Amino acid sequence: MLVGMIHGATRNLGAPRDWDKAKDGPCGGLPIRDEKTTAGQGMTSAWQPTPDEIARLNAGASIHLTVLGTVHPPVSMSVGTPPTLYQFGENDCPGHVASDDPKVCRHCGTHIDSLRPPDDEP
Ligand SMILES: [Zn+2]
Repeated sequence: MLVGMIHGATRNLGAPRDWDKAKDGPCGGLPIRDEKTTAGQGMTSAWQPTPDEIARLNAGASIHLTVLGTVHPPVSMSVGTPPTLYQFGENDCPGHVASDDPKVCRHCGTHIDSLRPPDDEP
């Protein structure tokens, strides 16, 4: 699963204070949206499955959630709405993802071939 950009993000969480990059590995930022839920205040993040993960989900695989530590907070999972086609420009695209045409980004409409460096002239 890849970290996605949650619509209406209110914060970008960094690594915990006691995170030891050498021992624990890299810990990137996590954009979250603070919001009220039916059970109180919550933080929602967006996760984008890779094409391989989508194939495994379609084959019936389950989604695994790992919480670090030994105390499990209350959590919930849901599925967001598909992004509207081409809602971003190429320069503010939160991350290129395939559309119905695997070579065209669903977020910004950029064709993958336009991202390739120009070939050297012979
Ligand atoms: Zn894009």
